[in-house]
Amino acid sequence: MSKLRLSYSKMDRYKTCPLSYKLHYLDKFKSEPSDPLIFGKLIHTCLELYVKNAKYGEDEILSIFTLQYTNEKLTCQSMFEEGRQILINWVKNNSDVHDLNILGIEQEIRMNIAGFDLIGYIDRIDQLDDDTIEIIDYKTNRMIFSREDVDQNLQMSIYTIALKSLYPDKKIVCRFDMLRHGFSMHTERSEEQLETAVDYIKSVGNQLKTASEFPAKLNTNCIYCDHRQNCGVFQKALIGKQEFICEDINDLDSVAKEYQEVSNLAKILYARKATLGGVIKIGLLSKEKLEYHGFKYAMGKMTKITYPNVNKTVDVLSNLIELDREIIEESITEVKKTKLDAFLKEQKKKWDKAKKLTVEMALKKTADISFSPRLNVRAIK
Ligand code: SF4
Repeated sequence: MSKLRLSYSKMDRYKTCPLSYKLHYLDKFKSEPSDPLIFGKLIHTCLELYVKNAKYGEDEILSIFTLQYTNEKLTCQSMFEEGRQILINWVKNNSDVHDLNILGIEQEIRMNIAGFDLIGYIDRIDQLDDDTIEIIDYKTNRMIFSREDVDQNLQMSIYTIALKSLYPDKKIVCRFDMLRHGFSMHTERSEEQLETAVDYIKSVGNQLKTASEFPAKLNTNCIYCDHRQNCGVFQKALIGKQEFICEDINDLDSVAKEYQEVSNLAKILYARKATLGGVIKIGLLSKEKLEYHGFKYAMGKMTKITYPNVNKTVDVLSNLIELDREIIEESITEVKKTKLDAFLKEQKKKWDKAKKLTVEMALKKTADISFSPRLNVRAIK
């Protein structure tokens, strides 16, 4: 039996779904990455080429993106626009990148942890000053990491262990660039955290060495799984078949179990609905309407009406209805929060902490704040 080589992706795949691990690494099924996975890799490639070439600017990175998008045969327009925006923002926020002391890009690392050979690739390694080295990982996740995600991320622990052995006298710090959100999140690892990571790697490594069963673990990321075509559980989920039905509605344990299963199924079915809807829309490019199984499909128009000139709108209304102008103004004008947030974001760049706090407090006094209860559900790591 050949020696088991570990990587973060291997361990993460096993933890997320043992079946996916088996199909990928043991049965060696051909990986069929979903468009979002291809997109994530493509953005990484663009950033890698951009950072490597000091002569590149915004135009060059956008040309590379367009070329790669074509080569990968991606067709989604909103994804294309989003990709361009991610790169434009990143280049703007990292205008000094070509002046930095960069030690490695897509840097391969190999090491032995707890008796296992471990391999990985670090997106970028920067020397910040004589004493500090920074590990940078680009993330295209839609969900922003929580502080816990950042501080406990195993990938960063592995990278820190690798760099500590390469640069024993330096301080190692870590940074996640949350590309879709335009900001970075920073973290470090203590000796204790690294020791825990080593123990964890040892535990997962031993599980991988001895595992004989690889159950499917349906989860919210199944729609992106590169082996979903070969996964019976996913195919069953596509027809909306539930495995578990809670018999006693007072049994919270069972309720939560079914709730999670239904949530996973719903996400899979919504994604499927979007794919099918896309195909029907393409069919409607050449025909005004389609009729199948007793339903008619046609493209409609969604009308959104806005009244950008508040004064003119109030003038029209106060001339036509018997109400005081002041009452009308109070009833129909409101500050748009998204616009206010964008405006404040720009202004805050010029303000110090005290000024930011003063403005925030003053605005809070004028705001209507209401809270509605919401159920937050996150996977336990
Ligand atoms: S589709 Fe979901 S359940 Fe199936 S192998 Fe992939 S991750 Fe596992």
